[in-house]
Amino acid sequence: MKFAKTQQSFSQALCLLLLSFALIGYASLVEAQTAEAESNKSVQSKLDDYLNQSQADDFDGKAYLKPIVDSLSPATPLATRLRALSYWASEFAYAERYDEANSILDSLADEVKKSHDANLQAELLANRIDLLVIADKVDEAFVKVPDLEAIMPKVTSPRINYYAYNLLSSLYTQWSRYEVALAYLIKAQSALDHMQGINQLRRRLYLKSSIADIQIRLEQWDLALKTSQEALVEMEGNAFPALSYELWFTQYYAYISLGDHEKGLNALKKAYAYTENFPYQRAIVLNNFGDSYMRLQQLDKAKSHLQEALELAQSLDYGDMIRTVEFNLGFIAVKQGDSLGLQQMKRVVDYFRDTEQSSALEQTLKELAQAYELMGRYKEQAAALKERQSIREKILQNSQSKALAEMQALYDNRDKAQRIDLLEQRNKLSEQIIENNRQQTVITWLAIVLGGFVFFTLLLLYRKVKESNRKLQQANVALSEQTKRDPLTGLENRRSMQLTMEARKTKNVATSMGLVLLDIDNFKKINDTFGHHTGDEVLVEMSQRLRELCREDDSLVRWGGEEFLFCFNRVTQQQLVTLVQRIQHAVSAEPVQTSKQSIEVSATVGFIVLPFSHFSESELDWESALKLADLALYSGKARGRHCAVGVMGLTERGHAHMDDLINNSDAAIEENWLVLEFLEDAE
Ligand code: GH3
Ligand code: MG
Ligand code: MG
Repeated sequence: MKFAKTQQSFSQALCLLLLSFALIGYASLVEAQTAEAESNKSVQSKLDDYLNQSQADDFDGKAYLKPIVDSLSPATPLATRLRALSYWASEFAYAERYDEANSILDSLADEVKKSHDANLQAELLANRIDLLVIADKVDEAFVKVPDLEAIMPKVTSPRINYYAYNLLSSLYTQWSRYEVALAYLIKAQSALDHMQGINQLRRRLYLKSSIADIQIRLEQWDLALKTSQEALVEMEGNAFPALSYELWFTQYYAYISLGDHEKGLNALKKAYAYTENFPYQRAIVLNNFGDSYMRLQQLDKAKSHLQEALELAQSLDYGDMIRTVEFNLGFIAVKQGDSLGLQQMKRVVDYFRDTEQSSALEQTLKELAQAYELMGRYKEQAAALKERQSIREKILQNSQSKALAEMQALYDNRDKAQRIDLLEQRNKLSEQIIENNRQQTVITWLAIVLGGFVFFTLLLLYRKVKESNRKLQQANVALSEQTKRDPLTGLENRRSMQLTMEARKTKNVATSMGLVLLDIDNFKKINDTFGHHTGDEVLVEMSQRLRELCREDDSLVRWGGEEFLFCFNRVTQQQLVTLVQRIQHAVSAEPVQTSKQSIEVSATVGFIVLPFSHFSESELDWESALKLADLALYSGKARGRHCAVGVMGLTERGHAHMDDLINNSDAAIEENWLVLEFLEDAE
């Protein structure tokens, strides 16, 4: 049984793959970083050296990287730190110290995320995926594939494009999604066009080798031969051992698949020449030598190669290889007529059946059937062939459903990634909306609060202004009241009377008005006798008595010191006479009781009714009428006081002196121009 790349366990296949990456994918990652400092350049070139030297068998990668990693500081450009720490992490991963490897990458994760640099993000993510592959956590690696695929279109660095697309291609190859794997290889190839560097050849050859590998898996033997041949021609003069091995092994596999064992064996010999530092690969080659020689019926040669393969596989504890070699050795024994060989073969078949390695089981059953045939055990041959057939069908079914399941998984992963993207976008959008709303709300509330504040301030101001206006008005009213009122008695003062009468004048009021002027008799004497304060008390008491005689629309004015003036609205002379008599009574009927003593008070009154005689008010106004009333009062004083004198009309002589009536009031009395009525106080 030959041992093909496709038959290797996954981890073995990845070992090869990653080795290729380490040697080729990472090699001389020199990019134009013109702005970077010299020290940075020197770190970069040291990292190039690391990759070149890491091809050597005895190279201690960790020891080499240690001082480089130690020399890194926050001042070192992030790209350089990421590159160095990625190698550093890989060293830990190869030593199966995965947690440490991951925490090395973790230390840069935040910075890389914040950088919003697709190149850095892609490199970090690709490295993370690489670590998962090394740790044989391929499922987890696949989950991250859509994330990497999402970033890739934004990646501008040819080096990172080359690295990441190769990684993606290898994963899709493992996943039997060869068309996608090829598409990524082509992208890696185009990235290569933009890369300058001494190892460009190695990279191109690596790509070709990868393409040939896919062609083998697609069973395109001729194409695989052509591609690997081209690469081998191009490689001439350059020693890339891992790559050479890959290419020659591809040639071998294609030739024997085409049935050309001779050429296959030659190619395998070439491949063997490059396996000195790759023991796993050497074990594979030795086993396949055994298989080929067996087919060529060179059983001894086959046996010696298989013995060598067995020892190597045992030293490596390479389980599947040990079984494969044992199987082949068993087959040789059968061929040599030893039926024990059959038992050995059956044990291996059982092993592959138990470990559910369908592909290996199918191949070993095929050869077991041949062995039964050789031994003439046709019944068992038929049984083996029957089982093989059912396994084949299962493999086919499995691979189909596996492919479907994997496609579904891929779809799901992408879908998940897209949904997460969408969700994030939506979240960002709704966050934005919420933020906008919040700001709007804040602004609205501010406006409301401010508006409210302004409103209340204005309201307060308004109320304050209104209040002060009101107070002012009140004060004004009070002031005007004060100006109209006599402070001692609270009666209207002369000024108020004047205003009232002016208003009457302008309104041209037609109704009559009785004017009664009253002067307390010998008031000076009261003052002199009882004191000014008692005089005041008499005045207050007198004003109260007089006010009681007034109706609502009548006025009582303190006309002078001890003089009062009544204005009775709508009164006839007769009514006024009656009123005057009441006044006289009010003044004198009862003595005024002051705080100290009781005082007899009398007054003299002069009165007149407006309009007077045949005069209109415009011809003889209230002031003139009052002068006449004053004349009447004066005459009352002259007659001995304590009486009332009314100006009732004009005598004939008065009519004759109408013009002088007002201006020569003394004559008016002396020459009897006025008709006067004397009222003695009834008391
Ligand atoms: P007659 O009978 O001629 O009117 O004499 P009379 O003393 O009342 O008149 P006269 O005009 O000589 O004096 C008035 C006095 O009234 C003089 C003044 O001191 C006094 N008087 C004026 N106003 C007040 C006042 O508000 N309170 C007091 N206690 N006395 C006043
Ligand atoms: Mg007087
Ligand atoms: Mg007087």
